[in-house]
Amino acid sequence: MKVPFLNFAPMHSAIRPQMVGAFEEVYDSYWYIMGEKLKSFEREYAQFNQVSDAIGVSNGLDALFLSLKALGIGKGDEVIVPSNTFIATLLAISSVGATPVLVEPDLKSYTLCPSNVEKALTGHTKAIMPVHLYGQACEMDRIMDIAKANKLVVVEDNAQAHGASFKGKLTGSWGDLNATSFYPGKNLGAIGDGGAVTTNHAGLADEIRMLRNYGSKIKYTNEVQGHNMRLDELQAALLSIKLRYLNDWTQQRNQLASWYNQALADLEEITIPYLHPRASHSYHLYVIRTKRRDELKNKLLENGVETLIHYPIPPHLQKAYAYLGYKSGDFPIAEELASTSLSLPIWSGMTQHEVAYIAEQIHSFFKK
Ligand SMILES: *Cc1c(COP(=O)(O)O)cnc(C)c1O
Repeated sequence: MKVPFLNFAPMHSAIRPQMVGAFEEVYDSYWYIMGEKLKSFEREYAQFNQVSDAIGVSNGLDALFLSLKALGIGKGDEVIVPSNTFIATLLAISSVGATPVLVEPDLKSYTLCPSNVEKALTGHTKAIMPVHLYGQACEMDRIMDIAKANKLVVVEDNAQAHGASFKGKLTGSWGDLNATSFYPGKNLGAIGDGGAVTTNHAGLADEIRMLRNYGSKIKYTNEVQGHNMRLDELQAALLSIKLRYLNDWTQQRNQLASWYNQALADLEEITIPYLHPRASHSYHLYVIRTKRRDELKNKLLENGVETLIHYPIPPHLQKAYAYLGYKSGDFPIAEELASTSLSLPIWSGMTQHEVAYIAEQIHSFFKK
């Protein structure tokens, strides 16, 4: 049997007629940037995310960058971020000229640890960026309390967790400005790059709208030095269609995760994902951990199963961030996760049979 890490075929063939119809509609409208499709998608995504405003932008990194910029974060400011995140979270911070301050995640949930955030606070701290890593919501109530007590702003990195929630409140609706990504492989993926900022602050939403479009509210009138970081009509139209299925797809991912959990629970050699009792999970990734990660990865590949590693090198050991002065051993949890994590295939349309096959391969690996 062959199981790819990700297979768009079942998801995309099921909605093909609608997607092609939307393409033709935009193609024939002769209006490709900042039109009705974007407006509709923004309204629908705001409703989905239970916020007042969603602003479509070019990608997830730009959504993070614009959020920090709109909040006035810049040179001399410190931004707290988990040590095990995807590099884009840090790139946004350094792009506005601020300093990323890394803190270790919770070892069980892999999400931002509130007590470590408290320990990292200094007089320069301006913002906290929780990352709902792999799709699990962070402990947002405690994080918001810390922010409030210390007059900090919060920007959620919600690129992996569309539709997840903590204590019933959706990720992307807690922070001041929150960023998400519609990169094709994300749970809500465009047919190209895309992203959005979500917020309940109308004023900040206007600021993002201006910044993404040359710093202009009225054409050829520029209030600030902005950017060209827009979501185009075609992507917006296609995303509107996919959004209608997102809850179903998330449910499917949860079902696949529970099949994996059942099939792998008895293996002492691996750690299966932990779900915080008050959090929900979008299972963007299903990540297991084992000391024999590389061997297991090879064995699975030999037997037709593609896996990936999220992420093999933690940000503090990346050459790009050498100037921060961190060294190997500074973040033992992030380093441990980087050397033991393995992401198994999980995608809409994947079958119980395929999960069982992968679990069987993992069992037979540890039996020898
Ligand atoms: C994908 C991702 C991003 C960046 O999104 P892009 O659309 O690829 O720029 C940021 N943060 C996290 C956690 C991601 O997974």
